[in-house]
Amino acid sequence: MRKITAIVLLLCLLLCGCAQQPTGQVVAPVQEQLWVHYIDVGQADCILLECDGHFALIDGGNDADGGSIAAYLQMQGVEKLDLVVATHPHEDHIGGLADVIDAFPVDAVWSSSIPNNTNAVRNFLKSVSHQDLEVVQPAVGQVFTLGTATVTVLGPVKEYDEINNLSLVLMVQHGEKRFLLTGDMERIAENDLVDSGADLKADVLKVGHHGSEGSSGYIFLREVMPTYAIISCGKNNSYGHPDETTLSRFSDAEATVLRTDELSTIVARSDGTDIYFMWGAEHLQNAA
Ligand SMILES: [Zn+2]
Repeated sequence: MRKITAIVLLLCLLLCGCAQQPTGQVVAPVQEQLWVHYIDVGQADCILLECDGHFALIDGGNDADGGSIAAYLQMQGVEKLDLVVATHPHEDHIGGLADVIDAFPVDAVWSSSIPNNTNAVRNFLKSVSHQDLEVVQPAVGQVFTLGTATVTVLGPVKEYDEINNLSLVLMVQHGEKRFLLTGDMERIAENDLVDSGADLKADVLKVGHHGSEGSSGYIFLREVMPTYAIISCGKNNSYGHPDETTLSRFSDAEATVLRTDELSTIVARSDGTDIYFMWGAEHLQNAA
């Protein structure tokens, strides 16, 4: 943790644009960075990817979160979203996307299969159609280019009755660094993904299903071997997320766990060879 704190402080200096070497030499801003914002939306998911002026939003929190997510995106300089993804149609992932899509031009929309049976889904589809877009269900292996980063679809590799297991699984690659996003995928789909032979090794894992007991099994974690595990969940949420046994599996895997219920919004920056984290209002202002 001490190392992370040091990195956070260094990053703040760099972001202020006034970082100076002891000799007075000004440090040049780092180009071609990937920023991954794990936005605090309480008991829900919302992740913003930013790379070389290109933006993608993966999930959009609950219905009531749309306005604050749009405001956060505006603060980050978003004028257009290259890609919007609904990993699966549960309200805590798709709910706020309608307001976000209404607020920004969007180039492409991905989702897993979505039964049109909830208000959240209907609002999402209406907003997509207002932009004359269609929701694309991407195939495994499909790649989206976001600046110097790529977003590759790894799953789901099978059909499931449980909607959580239909979550789109995405690997974001930037240089040598890899960020795995798994929506609410649970153990059965995790194991099928491992069996599919997909390369799951990742530096940062967005922990499946808000840290529930039914996700992040040992077989899956052995393949991912994350250095950092990000859990998106609400403070004192009624589900008891993250589960203690899940946390112990990450402890066994020697992954550093960072939680939005404890830190609020968490931002990772990759320069392609290293990843730096920051969180907290002061740090996020510097990031804006
Ligand atoms: Zn969820």
